[in-house]
Amino acid sequence: MKKLRSMLTVVILFFATGFIVNAQNEEVTLIKNVNIFDGVNEQLLEGYDVLVVKNLIKKIEKDIKIAKSYEIDVKTGGLKERPGGYLNDFSTSGDQVVMVYEPEKNEKKEVNVNVIDGAGRTLMPGLIDAHWHTTYAYTPAPVLFLNQGDMPEVAIRSITGAEETLLRGFTTVRDPGGNPFAIKKLIDSGEYPGHRILPSGPFMSPNSGHADYNDRLDTPKDKRFLNYWERNMMAMTSDGVAEVQLRTRDILKYGATQIKICTGGGVASLYDPLDVSEYSASEVKAAVEEATNYNTYVHSHVYTDEGVRSSVENGVMCIEHGFFASEATLKLMKEKGAWISLQPVALEDMKWDDPISQAKFEQIIEGIDYVFRTAKKVGVNIAVGKDHLFSAETADQQSEYVVRLGKWFTPYEALKIYTSENARLLEMSGPRHPYQEGPLGVVKEGAYADLIMVDGNPLENLELVGNPAKNFVMIMKDGKVYKNTISE
Ligand SMILES: [Zn+2]
Repeated sequence: MKKLRSMLTVVILFFATGFIVNAQNEEVTLIKNVNIFDGVNEQLLEGYDVLVVKNLIKKIEKDIKIAKSYEIDVKTGGLKERPGGYLNDFSTSGDQVVMVYEPEKNEKKEVNVNVIDGAGRTLMPGLIDAHWHTTYAYTPAPVLFLNQGDMPEVAIRSITGAEETLLRGFTTVRDPGGNPFAIKKLIDSGEYPGHRILPSGPFMSPNSGHADYNDRLDTPKDKRFLNYWERNMMAMTSDGVAEVQLRTRDILKYGATQIKICTGGGVASLYDPLDVSEYSASEVKAAVEEATNYNTYVHSHVYTDEGVRSSVENGVMCIEHGFFASEATLKLMKEKGAWISLQPVALEDMKWDDPISQAKFEQIIEGIDYVFRTAKKVGVNIAVGKDHLFSAETADQQSEYVVRLGKWFTPYEALKIYTSENARLLEMSGPRHPYQEGPLGVVKEGAYADLIMVDGNPLENLELVGNPAKNFVMIMKDGKVYKNTISE
């Protein structure tokens, strides 16, 4: 069936106290005849239709009629409401204006219906990457570390990267470090194509830690001043309880939806060996207290067993990497309801110019197989992401990482992690979660219409996800079609 474009767009003017609001282009998409992987259940829903009104999934049924008018609940079907206004979520587009008419009112109106015939293909939720640095992924390292570029270069590369990422089917990312705040704003408002973002803002470590990119000889650092990349929210250092409190509050003020600290050494950092512990218990607790006061959580970069354990004991709710966590520590994490956020990284993925970083990289690789097997066995909450850094050329490995999970998980388990499970981690941000109109990572009525149509069944062949350019024939985010090679 050809895509049916139709009919009338009726522009309705709402008159209310002092406001005249244009509700334009009320878009309705009807996806016909798809087998649905809902993100949660292994069993496909076969031969269903999905009705999308504006940005939400309105109805999932067999044989939804192609009609030119639909009953649209103005509240759920249309204009976005923003509970809990949040500085960096304010957008400039007209339909963000909070409506002042009765939200329960039902209106009957003529709408454009965009019909897409799935012809028995698989429809699944948009992918979610639990560890994707929007502003580091596409930026070459010398721009940042050797100051060979500045923030506008980072922003330009990152907004281009965000569109590419969306076209790989990743409709949402948790951004565990960097400054994607303006990019998020422009994507959320629909002005630029890209993925949703839950930003941690600048990732934070103590002086000498993973986030310390100050000159080695500039010691002691004059704490009255931040360096260029700190001022631009890409990284942050803080020392002592009072400064940890201050910087955590700053980062929350920028609009972070969770706080990322570093409690152990890292590969890309300048000064810290992998085995070290960063931040004292009182400093970790200070960050956790500030985040908790803001009704969100702290996640932490750390590899060693000791570092993972003490972080979790001090209130950290998600561990990034944690490749050397012992079985006992993973059990403790499970007891506390904490998460481990893993990356199926391989030696060939990255080459480091700095021999120290290369040696550290080789060391962490050794923990990968162990940690996936043990975390699965223990049953701790597992999230997965790419943690891609510094290369536009290899950013498409993001898709391959999903396929790599096949080493430890069935295709169903892997896709569940990359959709509803990663979405469950994002919900730890509570009221700071920026997308409150419905759930992410699932195909169900009331959920956000973030959808991928796959040519084939990824539950039988996970490799299909590794080549999105060929196999993802339709990609929708927030109810808007960004790719459709079926109908043309
Ligand atoms: Zn990272």
